[in-house]
Amino acid sequence: MNAPALQARIAAAHIGARRILHGIDLALPAGRWTAIVGPNGAGKSTLLRCIAGLLPCEGQVLLLGRALADWPARERARTLAWLGQQEAGGEDLRASDVVMLGRLPHRAWLAAPTAADHVAVDAALATMQCRELRARRLAELSGGERQRVLLARLLAVQAKVLLMDEPLAHLDPPHQADWLATVRALVAGGATVVSVLHELNMALQADDVAVIDQGRLVHHGANGDARTHHALQAAFGGRIAIHPVQGQWIALPQEASHAN
Ligand code: ADP
Ligand code: MG
Repeated sequence: MNAPALQARIAAAHIGARRILHGIDLALPAGRWTAIVGPNGAGKSTLLRCIAGLLPCEGQVLLLGRALADWPARERARTLAWLGQQEAGGEDLRASDVVMLGRLPHRAWLAAPTAADHVAVDAALATMQCRELRARRLAELSGGERQRVLLARLLAVQAKVLLMDEPLAHLDPPHQADWLATVRALVAGGATVVSVLHELNMALQADDVAVIDQGRLVHHGANGDARTHHALQAAFGGRIAIHPVQGQWIALPQEASHAN
């Protein structure tokens, strides 16, 4: 297995007085795509925010073998790109300016964007099929258009490690398929992708699946492993079934009367 791109040893994480995460030890190998899944409120976003260094936790997170706190801020921001769930802000910015924010860690202080920055922004907009949105303000976009612009901002960072919380929110099926192709291309190019997904059928296409339930890591394994499927079924109270369909794993909701 590849050396870990990220290693999270989190004894606990709290929001206010409430303990959200309990004893999570997760090593995410480089050059793979890991999906983090689990029921609503399980702690997936909290875990991803701890891994990104956005939420303090009791424990340690290593990025490429070095503690997050030991990275120079700009170098870390070039290495670890982040897309949060329901991100707000920047409403008055044009889409192209939002995507240019992804270039900030590459740019000299107060310097104008370079040709390379413009090329990266243009490529990211093209990959997310939102070049035609570049002059529109974020506030004027639909949910799916906005999400594609924010994904383009993430891509413009050209980071080795990408963290995404519910990246498929508001995306229609063609754009979900584009996102999937983009993730596969990133991973083929050596990047590490970690995405929280509530679309189980997408998550089952990731290389690895980490199952979070009630603030604990209950399983971490390959997408086709029977133990991974059992852990998913258990985390969702026996209310899903996982079947192979045309070479892919498909999770189907089960009626309560069929639950085990
Ligand atoms: P998930 O992403 O798996 O749906 P979260 O990590 O967002 O779950 O939340 C985990 C738990 O923490 C939930 O019970 C949620 O209600 C709680 N929580 C999240 N954010 C806050 C907050 N700002 N204040 C209080 N509780 C929160
Ligand atoms: Mg969440």
